[in-house]
Amino acid sequence: MTSKIADNLNHVRVRIAAAASRSGRDPSAITLVAVTKYASSGSIAALIDAGCLDLGESRPQQLWQRAVEFADRGVRWHMIGHLQRNKVARTMPLVSLVHSCDSLRIAAAIDQAVEQASQQVDALLEVNISADPAKGGFAADEVAPALDQLAGLSRLRIRGLMAMAGKPDDAVAARADFRRLRELRDQLRANCPPSVGLDELSMGMSGDFEVAIEEGATIVRVGSALFEGEDA
Ligand SMILES: *Cc1c(COP(=O)(O)O)cnc(C)c1O
Repeated sequence: MTSKIADNLNHVRVRIAAAASRSGRDPSAITLVAVTKYASSGSIAALIDAGCLDLGESRPQQLWQRAVEFADRGVRWHMIGHLQRNKVARTMPLVSLVHSCDSLRIAAAIDQAVEQASQQVDALLEVNISADPAKGGFAADEVAPALDQLAGLSRLRIRGLMAMAGKPDDAVAARADFRRLRELRDQLRANCPPSVGLDELSMGMSGDFEVAIEEGATIVRVGSALFEGEDA
């Protein structure tokens, strides 16, 4: 199992590097977050052994458990799924980046929880870039006013935007969604409050991370492509 996971990781890294060079970008500017939500503990350990230390979970309870299980391994945990306010206080001390800040209410709750723990937390605003009624996140035209409000928070630091493609198995549609997210970010830069950063674009999953990199992703969130063939 160890070598299968290491092979998968190597293969994904090669694909990341190829997509980066196709678009004239430095592969080291792209962070791979391994999404472990369906992976076994043994596979996660193999991934850590192979040097992949950015791990993402979409469910807070699972993140809590695994943060304990893999404590002292140098893991940087990424919260990539919807977060409820009653889970914020317990989650914040464990994470290095929240990708899924999807409402002003949750942003305020994060800021408050972090204030109590006297630290800061980096977060991305999740944007419903495909305008899918079944998806969460800020509508594209809600992001600019949200940034103005969030600029006043002292502990929550916005670092960029996150989105999912509307149809992840359709590379053409996914590319259009990712391009829209990058263009939105570029437009927002013109009037961006100084305390808000917009450098990070978290977009791209197993089925579309190469397209996302070609469109400017700085963070890709890859699950199944890393764990295929694992004997859990
Ligand atoms: C599950 C998940 C991923 C990874 O999906 P794969 O298709 O397995 O690579 C990425 N982002 C989010 C928000 C997810 O929930």
